[in-house]
Amino acid sequence: MAGLERLVFGTIRRYRLLEDGDVVYVAVSGGKDSAAALWTLRRFLEVYPMDVRITAFHIDLGFSTSGETLSVVEALASRADVDLEVVHVGDFGVDVERAAAALRRPVCSVCGAVKRYLMNRVPRERGATKVATGHHMDDVLVNFIKNLAGNHLDWTSKMGPKLVGTGKLLTKIRPLYEASSDEISGYVRAMGLPVAKCPCPYTMGSCSYAKETLEMARALSVRPGSVRTGHISTYLAIRSGLDKMEEGTPGIKRRLVRGIHELARRMGTPSSRPPAQCSVCGEPSSGQICAFCRIRMASQRGIGKATEKI
Ligand code: SF4
Ligand code: ZN
Repeated sequence: MAGLERLVFGTIRRYRLLEDGDVVYVAVSGGKDSAAALWTLRRFLEVYPMDVRITAFHIDLGFSTSGETLSVVEALASRADVDLEVVHVGDFGVDVERAAAALRRPVCSVCGAVKRYLMNRVPRERGATKVATGHHMDDVLVNFIKNLAGNHLDWTSKMGPKLVGTGKLLTKIRPLYEASSDEISGYVRAMGLPVAKCPCPYTMGSCSYAKETLEMARALSVRPGSVRTGHISTYLAIRSGLDKMEEGTPGIKRRLVRGIHELARRMGTPSSRPPAQCSVCGEPSSGQICAFCRIRMASQRGIGKATEKI
């Protein structure tokens, strides 16, 4: 059994990420992290058989690279011998790039809102009990530090390996919670898992594709300060600090991420009350109309005059 599998299997058991009767939709993007999440979950069920069904779930964002990404995701699902469900944002009346221009928002911000919405709504409507994502230890640590710096302390309660859903919100699980990005890269290479070379033309955002670009920059020893985009500069600076800590004190990142989980656990469930519902689509929303419906409306109209918060 590979080292990463031992680690991930421990995470799945320690935090009870899987239960008999589960139907788990694994969000696969074409990138290495989600490929590793799908593969290790499937391997876990081979080693410890349970009454759990795994389905790969892919959101086609309608970008120029989507065709290549879809082929990779199909190859991955076929190799893992799991069903693959694909949704196209266009079928929901959404054009991510057009909406971003209309709302004067970064494409990644609009894309993130669309993915969060569809990743909850579609699997739930198709009978899923849980959604699994490829978030790993380095993501958790960087986001925790950024949240502390931004005074978003309450977001910590959402940073555990399992976020139990309420109402229409599905439970989210993160099987790679205690695995580092480097460990995942090594595993994906060793297993020869199919990964898209350039899954998205917008690699400056905060998703796994963007992170892979950042990791390339890191491997090439790009100084964090020399990267002009603030978001990337911050990510690189924090990652570089964490990696130096790990070099000096091996194992510290794992201990930190376990500390964050304990903190999240002590803070309790973010809110036991289900959020309000969008007046247009009926999905959970903090405002009267959810971000997805506003993006859908913006996809249909021209360029806006002012930046709109989504
Ligand atoms: Fe979406 Fe990620 Fe591409 Fe940004 S980099 S547009 S968040 S897929
Ligand atoms: Zn809505």
